[in-house]
Amino acid sequence: MRILTLTARSGAENLELIDAYRRWIEGVEIRLDILAEGEDAPESAARLLREEAEGRGLTTILTCRRKEDGGRWEGNEEERTALLFRALSSGCSYADIEEDPPVSGSAEGRIAARARELGTRLIGSIHRFDGIPEKWPEKVKRIAERGRIPKLACTPPDFSSAAEVYRRSRDPELPRERILLLMGPYGLFSRILYRRFGSLVTFLSEPSRKALPWHLDPEQLSRLYRAHEIDESSPLYGVIGNPVHHSRSPELHNGWLIAAGIPGSYLPFQVDAPDAFFRFAREAGVHGFSVTLPLKQAVLPLLDARSEEVERIGACNTVVRERGGWKGYNTDFYGFLAPLEPMLAGRHLSRALVVGAGGVARTVTAALTARGLQWVCVNRTPDKARLLAEEQEGEWRSREDAEAAGPYDLVVQTTSAGMEPRVNEDPLPHYRFTGRETVYELIYAPERTAFLERARTAGCTVLGGMRMLRAQAEEQFRLFTGRPVPGEGESSSNR
Ligand code: NDP
Repeated sequence: MRILTLTARSGAENLELIDAYRRWIEGVEIRLDILAEGEDAPESAARLLREEAEGRGLTTILTCRRKEDGGRWEGNEEERTALLFRALSSGCSYADIEEDPPVSGSAEGRIAARARELGTRLIGSIHRFDGIPEKWPEKVKRIAERGRIPKLACTPPDFSSAAEVYRRSRDPELPRERILLLMGPYGLFSRILYRRFGSLVTFLSEPSRKALPWHLDPEQLSRLYRAHEIDESSPLYGVIGNPVHHSRSPELHNGWLIAAGIPGSYLPFQVDAPDAFFRFAREAGVHGFSVTLPLKQAVLPLLDARSEEVERIGACNTVVRERGGWKGYNTDFYGFLAPLEPMLAGRHLSRALVVGAGGVARTVTAALTARGLQWVCVNRTPDKARLLAEEQEGEWRSREDAEAAGPYDLVVQTTSAGMEPRVNEDPLPHYRFTGRETVYELIYAPERTAFLERARTAGCTVLGGMRMLRAQAEEQFRLFTGRPVPGEGESSSNR
């Protein structure tokens, strides 16, 4: 079940939330600790919300969350349990009380007896914001033995611990009725793959009033990730990186999967140790994944096969499960060339200036060399430009000498200067465009950098980074699914 945590302080505002998200949820969590911050009496607001939610066919979970469990309760423990006890009479389907540390004996007994009378199922929850409890499967089993639905929400410190929870969640001996969710950036995928974790529910909240920073928005979870449809047989895809949650790839790939009628989902995975992800990917049936910073080189030793471009560039941004195991590709190579193809076909380009000597500059210079262009590299740290030129058979200059080594048909801006939020930076402020260059900026956020704007004003033909981002993702989609991006035919491939 997709459960919307009601994060507004009044009954009326929470009703608006319910109506806004009704299509995307099966239930709501009524939070007395948040309602207590508003003007209404929390138990009256809870009753109203229970009636209205159940009138709309939604399940209701009642709770009053302590601060140490991620809640906002300001009063003392006695007041908290008394409020929860009174609000039980609202008749919610479930009530959630804490197990670790547990609610005091007498209060717990009274709440449990009242819940039984009213037919409210009790959820016994454990929250950990600083790791994963030892022997959690035993703890979960013990809660279930007392007739409660166990809930464990804990925070993996790294990807390998998150993957370990996934592996153990597959144990058939665990109680069938359970809530198992991971918090923090390494655990975000569990909120999308909640059904694979065997979790009855996933909690969501409205983006401008999130209950916890890693809560997803119900519409995003449903429309973008199709989380409620993911079952054991659904193919999974994803992007790994660290951090990764800013990535635009889930938007692109999920949009294409949906348009192509392919089941499954493409998820972001924050990964610090790629070997743990490769193990997880095998167990979870991941068909292919994109690789972003800083892992494009770290995945190389884990591949069973490498494309020619991966060998040439020494970096991999796409991994596909093929018959012989994991094969690495570099679609940045094709993505970079895609917008240049018409000019290359007309032989309008012969000499290029490459600004920057970081990771993507290696791909750019390899692609330019493969297409027979001469190029000159300049970089803030000149030594890196020298090394790149030596490795990839090009020239290098200091930034001050860039103009003198021209003229150029093509200028490729590969640095991160000018990228959000550093939008005022210009990587080559003294360079004067002739107006005859094609200027290709790889930054895609913002879509027009100050550097690109300067080139356009000088009369240059300009290309922005979105074109490359899209083209490299199209090539990935083809590798992942064996099909072209829907509606765009085979032309999406540059091979
Ligand atoms: P790296 O961190 O590997 O390299 C960064 C480069 O930028 C280095 O050459 C660095 O110089 C230079 N740089 C950073 N700050 C400045 C500054 N203030 N002035 C001048 N130079 C600076 O990053 P990547 O190569 O992976 O990525 C670079 C950019 O390319 C990013 O904005 C990224 O979003 C974009 N990109 C776009 C893609 C697309 O599909 N459109 C694909 C991949 C990347 P130094 O060596 O001196 O530190």
